[in-house]
Amino acid sequence: MLLPRCLAGGLPSTRVWVLLGILAPLGMLVLSGGMLMQLRQEAWDKAEQSAQNLLRLVENDIGRNIEILDLSLQAVIENLRLPGIAQANPDMRRHLLFHRTSTARDLGMIVVLDEHGDLVADSLGRPLPRGNFADRDYFRIQRDRSDTGLYISQAFRSRLSGVDMIGLSRRIDKPDGSFGGVVLATLKLSYLATLLDSVDLGGDGAVSLLRRDGIRLMRHPFVQSDINASLASSENFNRVLRERQGGFTAVGIRDGVRRYYAFRPVGDTPLIATVARGADDVEAEWRGKAVVIGGTMLLLGGLTAGLAVLFGRELRRRAAIEDTLARLSLTDGLTGLPNRRRFDTDLAGVCDHPGAAPFALLLVDADHFKRINDRHGHAAGDAVLKGLARGLSAAVHRPEDLVCRVGGEEFAVLLPATDAAGAFRVAERIHQAAAGVAVASAGIAAGSVTVSVGMAVAPPGASGSVAPEALYAQADAALYEAKAAGRNRTRCAPPTADALPRQAPQIRLVEAP
Ligand code: GH3
Ligand code: MG
Ligand code: MG
Repeated sequence: MLLPRCLAGGLPSTRVWVLLGILAPLGMLVLSGGMLMQLRQEAWDKAEQSAQNLLRLVENDIGRNIEILDLSLQAVIENLRLPGIAQANPDMRRHLLFHRTSTARDLGMIVVLDEHGDLVADSLGRPLPRGNFADRDYFRIQRDRSDTGLYISQAFRSRLSGVDMIGLSRRIDKPDGSFGGVVLATLKLSYLATLLDSVDLGGDGAVSLLRRDGIRLMRHPFVQSDINASLASSENFNRVLRERQGGFTAVGIRDGVRRYYAFRPVGDTPLIATVARGADDVEAEWRGKAVVIGGTMLLLGGLTAGLAVLFGRELRRRAAIEDTLARLSLTDGLTGLPNRRRFDTDLAGVCDHPGAAPFALLLVDADHFKRINDRHGHAAGDAVLKGLARGLSAAVHRPEDLVCRVGGEEFAVLLPATDAAGAFRVAERIHQAAAGVAVASAGIAAGSVTVSVGMAVAPPGASGSVAPEALYAQADAALYEAKAAGRNRTRCAPPTADALPRQAPQIRLVEAP
């Protein structure tokens, strides 16, 4: 039922219409905003999942290689206990020591250092170079702490080959438990670099291999200064240590980029692998969609709301025009008084619902108006009519009194709740007002315009409804009598005890007092 009421064009309905036009696109915007948020969440879920999967691959690969290297170290330590190994010639010794070692991908070599750090054997088939490595962390740690187990060193540049690598060391114990040297397997950094480079993570993505003490062994994308850098004091690294495995979103201390970090320990080693994806990379595809969908919705929403506002304005404009037309259709153009149509409506209304008091109708007709026109011209006649309209309006005092122009030089005055005596008083004021009309420019002086008044008084409403035509006919007949009696006077149709019937009444005229 809302629509027809809106179309009917009242002001409140117009407001409802405009409100709907604004609320509907707003609803659409909220809905599409929710959809976009969901798409964003899905993009993040997917990115986190794929980061975790990549992390598992990286961790598997590195963990497996370190495990193989560690097994090789343990095999060499066992082989060192073989009887007669110390006396064997260098080739035989190399064979006995290293035959059970596996050559992992990008493995550098395996070397044995004695308790002084001197190189005593290596897995490469070549004359043994001389060298002392007692200053290296992988040696010192094993020398100073017998319970170190597998130690993974910081990255270092080999003094023998000049290649960057990390070392995995294990302690050799003499039969009496004292320090007997170190077995060291080297892993080229290029292996780690190649492995991490193979992971495609987008522009802000990063993969890192860290020790549990915060030393970074490798990072992709590779920057030399990242190698061996310590993250021990970084909030993010400490969170990784605390949580051991999982993921979180944080701003990187290195470059201030917001990333999702996936992290987990590498097997049973003291290493941690992390895979990070830049928030901008994760949201890039979603952002493209958001711009298109959001932009379109904003445009459509704005357009709809704009159209609703314009539509509302148009409805209001039309309503105002209709109001004006309605008012004009009930108004007399010359005098501005209500016209015959308005009079008929109001008279019918009063007759249908007469109150407890009588009401009166006066018909006022300018006397010899044709003559005024003939003598002074039509324009002067018009001016007289306007003057009469003003005079008649001034002659009534109550807001519910109605003065209308019902014909050329004829006026009607409807006086609700007015008895004959009151109506005669109004008629008298009307005669005085007519006498006051003057049109100086046309030479019409005050006192030269007179009117005749016919009056009818309807009985109180208790006796039933009143026929408007009958009342009008009574007043008209009274007016005719006033004219016949010499004009410039009032005549009143006698009051009837019964409701005025629709058939023509018997009129007995009463003189003005
Ligand atoms: P009576 O005293 O018997 O009423 O004589 P009268 O001349 O007033 O009556 P009649 O009906 O013969 O003429 C009315 C005249 O009123 C005729 C017409 O020219 C004039 N009239 C009607 N409407 C207008 C109007 O809007 N402007 C002007 N200037 N004259 C009008
Ligand atoms: Mg007339
Ligand atoms: Mg007349």
